Amino acid sequence: MNSITNTIIWKRIVLPTALYLCELWGQLTFAETRMLAQTQRYFVRFVLGLDKRSPTDSCTSTVGLWYIQGLIDKFKLLFLGRLFRANSNTTHKQLFTVRLNQLLLGESDKRSITYDLIKTLIKYAMHSFLESYMDDLYISDKKLSSKIVKQSIEIREENNWKSSIQSRPELCRYYEIQNRLSIHRLLRLAVVYLHLNYKLLVMVKLGSIAIKDGQCSLCGCYSTDVVQHLILYCEKLLDERNNMFYRIVDVLPVQESVRFFQQDDSDIIVALLGGITDFMQSVNSDNWRNMMCCLADHKFHLYGKFKGELSEHRFNFGH
Ligand SMILES: [Zn+2]
Repeated sequence: MNSITNTIIWKRIVLPTALYLCELWGQLTFAETRMLAQTQRYFVRFVLGLDKRSPTDSCTSTVGLWYIQGLIDKFKLLFLGRLFRANSNTTHKQLFTVRLNQLLLGESDKRSITYDLIKTLIKYAMHSFLESYMDDLYISDKKLSSKIVKQSIEIREENNWKSSIQSRPELCRYYEIQNRLSIHRLLRLAVVYLHLNYKLLVMVKLGSIAIKDGQCSLCGCYSTDVVQHLILYCEKLLDERNNMFYRIVDVLPVQESVRFFQQDDSDIIVALLGGITDFMQSVNSDNWRNMMCCLADHKFHLYGKFKGELSEHRFNFGH
């Protein structure tokens, strides 16, 4: 099974089981949330073959997963929607109405489930749901309200992830490659080209590791960015690099290959690791796909030459 298949199993089977009835858990402590987040990170690192020291911000986002609290909040808000829409004759609706009235009168216990659900609603600035319910005692459109819940959490999750990753300069290359909280485009490609799955995964991993300085034991040079040095500059890897560049010239039309190499080195490495630079936006999707498939082969060969060097710098992919 490939990384995406494993991620889907995690999202659709393992997570819902692990978070069974989380809408009724109430407010989790910091330690409890941290343990759940650790479990999620452990799984993603295992699926992607990332080292346990790999940065959190470039881990779960590679497979487009939200932080665990966002997922729990989604279950809570969907449950609240079901309570809003429930028939007033049912016991759970009557209990909910009593608790909601207590809350509105300021008499609610802050440990109550209703208090926690309404607090979650306010967290996502969705007061209008409560106001609408108070006016009409009913929220009619299940599909629309579910969509609003999902989009509200998605926006907040994406903003939280962006602000976290933007505060870490060592992950600026990763952020240029993966600037949205969705499944990495090379992992999507791996679903289509199964025979390249493992090689595309190596490209994903190279793009996700932090920028770090160090001395290259292959050529003895000191660099401020070990990965960039190995892929673009190390003189001991000249032949492998040239072979990779020749293939880019073969795959792209002449004008585009010229423009590819006119990019800054920082953009070239982003493009080589699957990112969409300003120039790459002008490359059509077929050419981009062909280029990535060729690069997967060549990058994997290059990686075979320097993976020992990565281990020395404490980048260990376990392969
Ligand atoms: Zn070197």
